[in-house]
Amino acid sequence: MDTLDKINKKLKEYNAKLVAVGKTHPVEAIQKIYDRGQRVFGENRVQEILEKKDLLPADIQWQMIGNLQRNKVKYIAPFIAMIHSVDSEKLLSEIQRQAEKNHRVIDILLEVHIAKENTKEGMSRDTLFDLAEKIAQNTFPNIQCRGVMGMATFTDKQEQVKSEFRILKTYFDKIKGDILTKNSFDTISMGMSGDYEMALEEGSNMVRIGSLIFGQREYK
Ligand SMILES: *Cc1c(COP(=O)(O)O)cnc(C)c1O
Repeated sequence: MDTLDKINKKLKEYNAKLVAVGKTHPVEAIQKIYDRGQRVFGENRVQEILEKKDLLPADIQWQMIGNLQRNKVKYIAPFIAMIHSVDSEKLLSEIQRQAEKNHRVIDILLEVHIAKENTKEGMSRDTLFDLAEKIAQNTFPNIQCRGVMGMATFTDKQEQVKSEFRILKTYFDKIKGDILTKNSFDTISMGMSGDYEMALEEGSNMVRIGSLIFGQREYK
């Protein structure tokens, strides 16, 4: 059993989904994983999705997992299967506008800042709940909010990572219970190569895994 088999076996236990993150890796590497049955792939740069998409099978579900600039939404709106990185109302409004133009409903996740690190990614708790309320009022008809996404601190302090995942799960439960109560609000995207098993234990049902599957990334 190789790494991909092991990951899939583990995910099955938790009824969780895999987003295979092929960023920086060539289309040949992605094709290999596709040939093993994987259909959901994540990238963190718009340009890279656009370059790869046309060289790979059309039934791949591309997911945007990285920081997304508003002026680039239009390039991915015609085909993107899910956007994990919604971190402001302004971005959500632009996705709404482009989804409508393309006669689509686009699945999104609300990205939450859970890490201790001072990264710019993700919304604060207050912004998260405000935006969830606005979505519940149906101000974004071409958007389907599927859940939340978060990244834990890059550290080997297990307890810290665990408590951050726990916070995200708490937010998800609160929104699901009080604000976005539809069945379609069902996704907690947390866990990467280094921490996905812990994320699953803490309630994740979607993991985004790159280096474990594709090997180390080389940045040119
Ligand atoms: C790169 C990336 C991943 C995958 O990271 P690995 O540690 O290689 O598994 C997951 N999520 C996001 C948002 C990423 O940018």
